[in-house]
Amino acid sequence: MDLLIATGNAHKVQEIAAILADVAVTWRSTREWPDLPEVVEHGSTYAENAALKALEWARRTGLATLADDSGLEVAALDGRPGLYSARYAAAGESPLDKLLGELAGVPAERRAARFVCHAVLATPSGVVAHTQGTLEGRIGFDKRGAGGFGFDPVFVPEGFEGLHLAELPETTKNAISHRARACAALRPTLERLLVDAGAQ
Ligand code: IMP
Repeated sequence: MDLLIATGNAHKVQEIAAILADVAVTWRSTREWPDLPEVVEHGSTYAENAALKALEWARRTGLATLADDSGLEVAALDGRPGLYSARYAAAGESPLDKLLGELAGVPAERRAARFVCHAVLATPSGVVAHTQGTLEGRIGFDKRGAGGFGFDPVFVPEGFEGLHLAELPETTKNAISHRARACAALRPTLERLLVDAGAQ
């Protein structure tokens, strides 16, 4: 069975394919359709945006499609940037520097943050599963590490005191992350789809 990962973010494609590496599907990428535009994320929740992307790509391509929508919620910023994490910084501005700047002077005990991921699996007939995962932690005081993407260099996951997410091996991030938890919860539905596809 073919499974399309509907995201223009190459890091997310790599993470999702690694997290679900043992699922016996042929991974497809939206890069195979370079003329089709990205889906506009006009939903007001992560769940709506993930469903918009998964359904639109499933209908465009006829393939079972997995999409995620994710973000970073910082308690001291009342949950910002949240749904708008990808657009947090202006063009040419570093989102990491902007975040560290906004939190300047905020002590460690008030730097709590979490990553949130909603994952949706859809076929051309509709949404078949919606799952979510979170990773609790806090925002560090500087940028560290070269792994991962986005806000990983400033995020200290709970239980990894002193280590920023971008300093952890890829396999560790993919075992604990918000995306790993959301994708793991999709497994039973994915496996059912595989059985159904085999029966046809
Ligand atoms: P989306 O493409 O609308 O889901 O936007 C996700 C944004 O949230 C990314 O551009 C990052 O800024 C942030 N984000 C989501 N997941 C991660 C992660 O695993 N590491 C670091 N940043 C993330």
